[in-house]
Amino acid sequence: MNPDLAINGGTPVIDTAPPPWPVADGPIREAVMQSLTDGSWGRYDSRWTSNLVERLKELYQVEYVLLCSSGTIAVELGLRGLGIQADSEVILAGYDFPGNFRAIEAVQAFPVLADVINGGWVLDPQETESAISEKTSAVIASHLHGQIAQIQELKEILKSSNIPIVEDACQMPGGQMDSRPLGSFGDVAALSFGGSKLLSAGRGGALLTNSAEIFQRAKIYNSRGNEAFPLSQLQATVLGPQLDLIGSYNQKRHERALEIINGTADNVVLRPLQQVIQSETFLPAYYKLPWLFEDVKSGCPRGDFVSAIQAEGVAIDVGFRGFTRRSNKRCRQIGPLLNSRIASQQTVILHHPALLQSSDYAARVCEAIHKVTAGL
Ligand SMILES: *Cc1c(COP(=O)(O)O)cnc(C)c1O
Repeated sequence: MNPDLAINGGTPVIDTAPPPWPVADGPIREAVMQSLTDGSWGRYDSRWTSNLVERLKELYQVEYVLLCSSGTIAVELGLRGLGIQADSEVILAGYDFPGNFRAIEAVQAFPVLADVINGGWVLDPQETESAISEKTSAVIASHLHGQIAQIQELKEILKSSNIPIVEDACQMPGGQMDSRPLGSFGDVAALSFGGSKLLSAGRGGALLTNSAEIFQRAKIYNSRGNEAFPLSQLQATVLGPQLDLIGSYNQKRHERALEIINGTADNVVLRPLQQVIQSETFLPAYYKLPWLFEDVKSGCPRGDFVSAIQAEGVAIDVGFRGFTRRSNKRCRQIGPLLNSRIASQQTVILHHPALLQSSDYAARVCEAIHKVTAGL
């Protein structure tokens, strides 16, 4: 037992509380005050949601936007918009957001797991190709943990069989590839405005598409005499001011993320994020900054490593559980899904508010990681 580690009673590297998120700054307060003053906060329909739709269309360069109550339902509405039939198959990564598996089940389709890339968190295009069957009706591709999905390669592979892509951009609002917004590449895309996300209204989401048909189907499913999965005026008020800042915030997060990636590059038990897309011009958004923690090499369980870093004052956590241990009654697994298993067992993620702090804060995050690794 190393007495210097904060978890053993030593002094933490960072002795302040983790940075708060989301932050109700001036423009957000002002927007909420306006909606209180003009009475729109209590109405079903008003300019706040219609303004938000227009701004998202512009930001994402898409024809249609359907606001909804969460990213989870946005993915499901995306599948419904595509007209996914019961008993067809939908391919997703063996490591992904848990709600995406359930969205496939919600439309009564069958999840098919394809592996993620070696050392990463996004769908492997070749593995996705191997997962295609006559029943395949869609692929869900998520940009995850700051890693941009190889969506152009996927499109190339799926083109000949006309299989559509649901692009899950919930973790990457404002991200760019080939000077185009992430969320504008798939046939339909999902955004989340959940309480921890980079754009946050506590709850909420949106579906994006260029297809009138997809939009119409999703909208009809959402309409039950009234909207079944609505975003409220009050939620919409707080999002407008955040759209003004998303570009500059993402730029700053990217700089800090690179400082932390470089500052931990000599750590032999942590495998860092690497982009795998072909694009020269890209900007990821970081909802989380990930590593693979090689627990075998370090001789320390991942949970203990994470707890020790948390005790040093850094908001780090384990990743998703992944789907590789689900029974074959619930999904079809393609190959051994080795990379997805590794991602499920080894992912550790730093929560994004740390990335809007100073370079000095980033350096102390690295120091905390070094301290714990040395003290294992
Ligand atoms: C958060 C998240 C969602 C769902 O968003 P909610 O608004 O929380 O329902 C979907 N996909 C990914 C990758 C996410 O991170």
